[in-house]
Amino acid sequence: MNTGPRRVLVTGASRGIGRAVALELARAGFEIVLNFRSRADEAEAVRRAIEEQGGRARVLGFDVADRVACAAALEGELAERGALWGVVLNAGVTQDAPLAGMDGDAWDRVLDTNLGGFFNVLRPLVMPMVGLRDGGRIVVMSSVTGLVGNPGQVNYGASKAGLIGAVRSLALELARRKIAVNAVAPGFIETDMLAGLERDTLEKAIPMRRLGQPDEVAALVGFLFGDRAGYITGQTLSIDGGLA
Ligand code: NDP
Repeated sequence: MNTGPRRVLVTGASRGIGRAVALELARAGFEIVLNFRSRADEAEAVRRAIEEQGGRARVLGFDVADRVACAAALEGELAERGALWGVVLNAGVTQDAPLAGMDGDAWDRVLDTNLGGFFNVLRPLVMPMVGLRDGGRIVVMSSVTGLVGNPGQVNYGASKAGLIGAVRSLALELARRKIAVNAVAPGFIETDMLAGLERDTLEKAIPMRRLGQPDEVAALVGFLFGDRAGYITGQTLSIDGGLA
């Protein structure tokens, strides 16, 4: 068993929900590997914030949609620092349009990032995680759209529903190894992803009449990473103010 702090990769940790999750897990004592795609400065700022609160983190940039780049970055990380105990597969994108007007690029980019990222990131990490013989956690960021749908988001909904199916099967593959695999399905959370959407309209659609906060999603992920959550696996936990 590894004697250092347990290490956790958070994809898309430069902003929004991923940033909040990284800070939460660092407070819980995990060493964080912060992934980002394009905003290195923001990822560095998260690293500094974690260190200021007494935690440990390093930054690892790669595009989760790029299978070759993922393998290269993650295999380098494993070779240098050893296996990861946990992964939060958080990086995700939207590119909305009604199906009749959606171009192939929008379909491919959203599926390749949100669902392709599941394979690209977890495939290199799972066997080393098993090899630690210390259990582990995988949490995948799905969405309310994957559960109930949303007009204009057939690509995003397909990717997020696909993640729920992938989580159920991977949970069964890894259960004997005491690695718990779950999905979190947020509703509307106040991040850059909601830019351009009308706040009033969104709030009226939410039974609790307010947007969720990244910290609230991070608290749920933090719970799933805790010792007391080790018997929860294969589930999708909604955090959406009553939407689903
Ligand atoms: P943001 O748009 O605020 O942040 C997205 C993060 O993902 C950024 O850190 C970005 O990195 C990273 N990212 C995007 N594409 C890639 C890629 N190809 N490779 C690596 N990193 C990438 O999103 P949110 O925080 O709102 O969303 C986080 C997750 O939660 C997503 O999976 C999203 O689908 C899901 N979600 C969000 C909801 C919401 O209402 N906000 C609701 C339901 C689910 P960079 O900064 O470098 O661009």
